[in-house]
Amino acid sequence: RNLKMWFEYHSGWFGRNVHYVRAVDDVSFQIRKGETLGLVGESGCGKTTVGRCVARVYEPTAGEILYHDGDQVFDLAKLSRAELRPYRQKIRMIFQDPHSSLNPRMSVFEIVSEVLRVNHLLPSGELEDRVAHLLRRVGLRPEYMRRYPHAFSGGERQRIVIARALATNPQLIVADEAISALDVSVRAQILNLMQELQDEFGLTYLFIAHDLSVIRHICDRVNVMYVGKLVESAPANDLYTEPQHPYTEALLSAVPIHNPLLRDKKQRIHLTGDVADPANPPDGCYFHPRCRYAESKCASVSPPLRPIKGAHSAACHFSETLDLRGVVDDEEIP
Ligand code: SF4
Repeated sequence: RNLKMWFEYHSGWFGRNVHYVRAVDDVSFQIRKGETLGLVGESGCGKTTVGRCVARVYEPTAGEILYHDGDQVFDLAKLSRAELRPYRQKIRMIFQDPHSSLNPRMSVFEIVSEVLRVNHLLPSGELEDRVAHLLRRVGLRPEYMRRYPHAFSGGERQRIVIARALATNPQLIVADEAISALDVSVRAQILNLMQELQDEFGLTYLFIAHDLSVIRHICDRVNVMYVGKLVESAPANDLYTEPQHPYTEALLSAVPIHNPLLRDKKQRIHLTGDVADPANPPDGCYFHPRCRYAESKCASVSPPLRPIKGAHSAACHFSETLDLRGVVDDEEIP
């Protein structure tokens, strides 16, 4: 709630001038138990920073991260390192690049069991059985647990990363571009695996991606970010068929269409101009220098995120009057 993550940097003589990059600037949203929430936007929009704040890799500059645990609510933003320890097991992260997120000097057994060993969560005699079970569950053969990451393909490495994340029986997994670095043919397998695991273990996902096409079929709701702010939030189907923010419309226009009969109906919207600088954002709507619907009000008045229809919210002055284009009906999205 009202999450802010500002990074300080200095310029000028002896670094006397202090500036702030507003990577995340007053963002509020909920993730409900058992759902998959997508968080989408261009590189540098702050989505990864939000994910790292939720997992408390970063300590936010301001705001609350309210974690409901049974009847109790804890503000993770305020907890000390020691107090956070149990939540580090309940909230786990999966990173984009399985090549760099696995230590090449550690065997698969060491990688998957590390969190259990370091936190003394399991007697050492039971570790091997636990790792074997986890590997089997993610579709890998347990007899390979003494091998090292270089012996596995990209998709298999991401399965190892998922097994490592599952080791502590987490409740929430922050998947940061979890499939972006994988071959297209492997992506569907990993997405299917993640959905199976969600059903089996009641997992909740915060699924971060830069590409709306990737997450259409796995997300219950989607939030769209632009320069550190949420600009649209909606149930997934509503967002794809009836976007209420021009930036979302542009992102949707880039979703590829595989049905050749529908391709003519599609018009790609090419955004011109640069993404606003989060250290020095423009007045008014941050999107106005690139928005094809911008009017004079947009350059001076910042639009708040507000309800438009049902659970659909958008931060645009003219959402109700614009006739924005979603994905073409019945098109196939990979
Ligand atoms: Fe475009 Fe104005 Fe809406 Fe911003 S407020 S998205 S500039 S129409």
